[in-house]
Amino acid sequence: MQKEYDYLFKLIVVGDSGVGKSSLLSRFNDNEFSESFISTIGVDYKTKNIMVGDEHARLQLWDTAGQERFRTIVGCYYRGAHGVVVVFDVTSSESFANVRNWLYEIENHCDRPSRCCILVGNKRDHPRRQVLRSDAERLAAELHIPYVETSAKTGRNVDRVFVTLSQLIVETRPPRRR
Ligand code: GDP
Ligand code: MG
Repeated sequence: MQKEYDYLFKLIVVGDSGVGKSSLLSRFNDNEFSESFISTIGVDYKTKNIMVGDEHARLQLWDTAGQERFRTIVGCYYRGAHGVVVVFDVTSSESFANVRNWLYEIENHCDRPSRCCILVGNKRDHPRRQVLRSDAERLAAELHIPYVETSAKTGRNVDRVFVTLSQLIVETRPPRRR
């Protein structure tokens, strides 16, 4: 039987409540956007297949189910994650300041030493920006991770987040599925 995919990656999304994590996932997965909060009920993750170069990757995309409201997420969310999308909202300085706390959480809870991160500034369509792009780029450079500005509302750059992260993971050469 032919294999369906070359790689299977668990990707998780972290960041303050309200930054648009669920919206980014539903834009990426279903090309949909809603103006209201999207709560995750019942499902742990969704899967999506993408191409990384000429290879097939199956992404397991995990959403927090709102646990981040308590500024922490249970350990099983982080367990085995290959990649982490760290999201802040460009209209909220507070969510940007909290990026370091989320990275600290990742350091403490992710068991996979080679896991990769990407920093995402979401809501770039919004006129009330509080976080300068240059500040976000400086932080990402300091952390040696890529920075992408997205809009879950318009769809801008959303695919790029997941493709870039998957490429990074492939470059760190995880064991290939045969
Ligand atoms: P989560 O708590 O991080 O999962 O955030 P949600 O995905 O539930 O989004 C919180 C709110 O921000 C919702 O009202 C969304 O409609 C809104 N939102 C999410 N992404 C964007 C975006 O890119 N632009 C704008 N203008 N609003 C967004
Ligand atoms: Mg959510």
